[in-house]
Amino acid sequence: MSKMFCFQCEQTAGCSGCTKVGICGKQPDVANKQDELTCALIGLARAASGKTPGKKADELMMQSLFATITNVNFDSNRIDELKELVAAEKETLGGAEDFLWEELWKGNEDIVSLRSTLLLGIRGMAAYAYHAYVLGKKDSEITSWFYKGMLALGEEHSIDEWLNLLMEFGQINLKCMALLDEANTSTYGHPTPVKVPMKIEKGPFIVVTGHDLYDLKQLLEQTEGKGINIYTHSEMLPAHGYPELKKYAHLKGNYGTAWQNQQKEFAEIPAPILFTTNCLMPPKVGYADRVFTTAVVGYPEIQHIPESKDGKKDFTDIINKALELGGWKEDKQLTGINGGTELMTGFARNTVLGVADKVIDAVKAGAIKHFFLVGGCDGAKTGRNYYTKFVKQAPKDTVVLTLACGKYRFNDLDIGEIGGLPRIMDMGQCNDAYSAIQVASALANAFDCDINELPLTLVLSWYEQKAVCILLTLLSLGIKNIYLGPTLPAFISSNVLDVLVEKFDINPISSPEEDLNAILG
Ligand code: SF4
Ligand code: SF4
Repeated sequence: MSKMFCFQCEQTAGCSGCTKVGICGKQPDVANKQDELTCALIGLARAASGKTPGKKADELMMQSLFATITNVNFDSNRIDELKELVAAEKETLGGAEDFLWEELWKGNEDIVSLRSTLLLGIRGMAAYAYHAYVLGKKDSEITSWFYKGMLALGEEHSIDEWLNLLMEFGQINLKCMALLDEANTSTYGHPTPVKVPMKIEKGPFIVVTGHDLYDLKQLLEQTEGKGINIYTHSEMLPAHGYPELKKYAHLKGNYGTAWQNQQKEFAEIPAPILFTTNCLMPPKVGYADRVFTTAVVGYPEIQHIPESKDGKKDFTDIINKALELGGWKEDKQLTGINGGTELMTGFARNTVLGVADKVIDAVKAGAIKHFFLVGGCDGAKTGRNYYTKFVKQAPKDTVVLTLACGKYRFNDLDIGEIGGLPRIMDMGQCNDAYSAIQVASALANAFDCDINELPLTLVLSWYEQKAVCILLTLLSLGIKNIYLGPTLPAFISSNVLDVLVEKFDINPISSPEEDLNAILG
């Protein structure tokens, strides 16, 4: 008998659904409580219908959705707390019935598929909205859409209505990514290209992972002058490009690769690790006492750093842990998965558009024949070496734009330059898909054509729900011919897939050779 049901990420059991325990380590009680929390949020949206919910309800909506994303919160007590707060807020708004959680994943296969796709997209957008919110940016249209979307999940809709909702959501998520881009760039400046060392200097250090730049900023402030160096990990790497973060001399470099290697990589360091968001894997005994979580991240028995009412955090405990552990006695040169010793980042929209003339001239002169956006999440499946091979085999007159943690498959490779521009340009985190969209739109304008007519192909890797919301945004923009891998989502039914293939020409990845041939002819 099944103890739980979850099929929201790429590593779901048997490519169909985790029913006994999550492959990610999520226990059945947590999975079921997350379903209850989701259904309580539908209840909250019902209670808020026709009213103006307050700040507390808005915060709970974002935090609770964020907490149900893959590899974010494994702590059943924290999910219980959120459920209680949501129930109390619902009563404040006059009360309403929750959605029946046993029904969440049940019904006509295609309707479940479309409803799940919308829910998972909304979960992803909640993470982006939350990052913007902690930097003081909020947009009423985006906030209201959380209620609209959650309300819609509890209602009956035809297939066409669900598809329309998904496209509308994609446009709202574009606004949300734009809001986060504005929050990040107005707070920390526009990223500029920077070479990030993978050398760990001797002495105490802290590794910061996840996506939240505000947590990193607060930690940098609190460690300044204390003889502790800070290293980014995984999705925090693009932080090095932001002027207001890279000005800290003790933000030294990057440790490790993508999230799925953390149990090995974190076991090897004499330093604490701060998780600001996903992707948290169950910490092994050998290093669990060095792991700290903050914000919506949680794991049973792992020390959590709370925030005060004004969003400030006190990192004293992790600072003391770093001093106690002391770091390595000598500098340590580490490498990426291909043996490279430094990583480049900082090619966000401002930088790339700043050299647009050069890029356009290179295309016109035939020096650049094609652009690939090879981006998205990394993961544990062996088939993901497709992305390394794809980049290695991409012809020398092509440019690879990248973002999110899937880039660790190739971001330590040196594949040369074209006209002074590196052939691999890291645009940032997954949310910086916004930058990629801006660049593609600008190129389309310059060449007076549609984005689909540009010599540009998106080769995406997905893992969790932020990738779902980005994909829906790309589809809502009418972007076609996307290559998607390493496997297709379990929550997409065969009929829904047929619609996506017919309307958007989505291609499952095959082999790098075959796909490069098909793309370049
Ligand atoms: S998040 Fe992924 S691995 Fe974890 S329980 Fe859900 S489908 Fe399974
Ligand atoms: S890009 Fe996706 S898989 Fe990678 S760390 Fe971020 S959330 Fe996790």
